[in-house]
Amino acid sequence: MAKDRREFLKNSGVLGLSGLIGPFSVFSEDHDFLNFQQNSYLIKNTEILSMDDSVGDFLGMVLVENGKISEVSKNIEIPQGIEIIDAEGGILIPGLIDCHWHLWTSLLRSMSGNSLQEGYFKMTARYSELYSPEDMKLAAKYAIAEAIHSGITCISDYNHNARSWKYVKASFDAMAEMGLRGHVSYGTYRNMKESDSTDFRGIKTLKELIESDSKYNDIKLGLGSRYANYQDIMLDWKRARDLGLRITIHASSNESQKGQIASLYNKNLLAEDVNIIHGNAITPREIEFVEKTAASITMTPYSEMRIGYGLPKINQLNESQINCCVGIDTTALTGNAHLLDTLKLLQNLANANAKNEFYINPKKLLKMATIQGAKNLGIDNETGSITPGKTADLVLLKKDDLNFSTGNKAYHLVIEAALPSNINMVMAKGKVLKYKGKLTGINSDELIKKAKERFSEMNQEIG
Ligand SMILES: [Zn+2]
Repeated sequence: MAKDRREFLKNSGVLGLSGLIGPFSVFSEDHDFLNFQQNSYLIKNTEILSMDDSVGDFLGMVLVENGKISEVSKNIEIPQGIEIIDAEGGILIPGLIDCHWHLWTSLLRSMSGNSLQEGYFKMTARYSELYSPEDMKLAAKYAIAEAIHSGITCISDYNHNARSWKYVKASFDAMAEMGLRGHVSYGTYRNMKESDSTDFRGIKTLKELIESDSKYNDIKLGLGSRYANYQDIMLDWKRARDLGLRITIHASSNESQKGQIASLYNKNLLAEDVNIIHGNAITPREIEFVEKTAASITMTPYSEMRIGYGLPKINQLNESQINCCVGIDTTALTGNAHLLDTLKLLQNLANANAKNEFYINPKKLLKMATIQGAKNLGIDNETGSITPGKTADLVLLKKDDLNFSTGNKAYHLVIEAALPSNINMVMAKGKVLKYKGKLTGINSDELIKKAKERFSEMNQEIG
């Protein structure tokens, strides 16, 4: 082994002509001296779950250069002076992609109470009126910090406190400042009148603004559609598509909304650019409609179950050709943003329904939160797998915690055992956003303090 390593170092150029390791390499081996300003790294000694069949899964190395994955291999010649991250046998997965989240509700964590008045819809409607655009940004940052902690590097935010374009811009600013990729759906707001038309003037203003500033390059604008049967749906979706916007819609969320997906299909609205949220009441015929049109479905099982929508149709969807994805939806209902736990819930529900220990493969589940999420958002050529040429959106889980150390079935470990605290490193677009379990780019204490202060003020205003 020692000889192999010496050979490797010699071949890799780390051992120079003199046989000495250069001082930069010595520093970069020391975790406390990792340079977070970089966007070029070599990750070594890691079990790679690439989520790309042409790359495969193996113990090896990943080279990141200028924010992009340039090589994935068992052995890589180490470029001189590059920062090295030693995974020490840990597991590397693509950055997780959340396909449905209302970021603004993060200040209202677990605030859905025990009566109709305190229930999710009435409670969020009451608080939503107190938000300013600055509050929207604070809430989004507070949510994104937790997302990064949980291994999420791309979020599809459905902004449904869109009282003006400034409220939606807050999501863009939060994502841009925190270094994430994203998609922001311009939605409605809680007490918007049925007769009010969709704010295309605001959508166009925001679209021009984000397109004129490169800091928003990796954040896309979409339409957060109203429910399936509103009067102007066909006109609005056409206008959105003419602007190049993808469309997100809550549909067939529970039994009382049964038939909504069929209604969208019958109006010829479904296509590859549509992200259907929930779908708990989807019928076998509607599954065929969604397959035929290549729309995606995003399940948010924790919020769906918590609010009483029923169980996700994981078995039927798993057996279909539909591009299935997952989301947090709202921490007002889910309590936290542990997206891997969402996959575990789906795994256990699917196996329980099938009464079969081997029914669903954990690799299939991890695809829902990685490559399939990227496909849903139309960015699968940029992210969603550990593939040379794609952006370096990566998550490293080190195997040195009480709950995460033994075992060698990597997919099962990631789905079943992993907690956000086991996530050692999160990289988005080649920037290290979490390292050694701590967020690198933001002052978490300050953010928590601001979130607590604003939440407490809102409570006083509500009385
Ligand atoms: Zn939702």
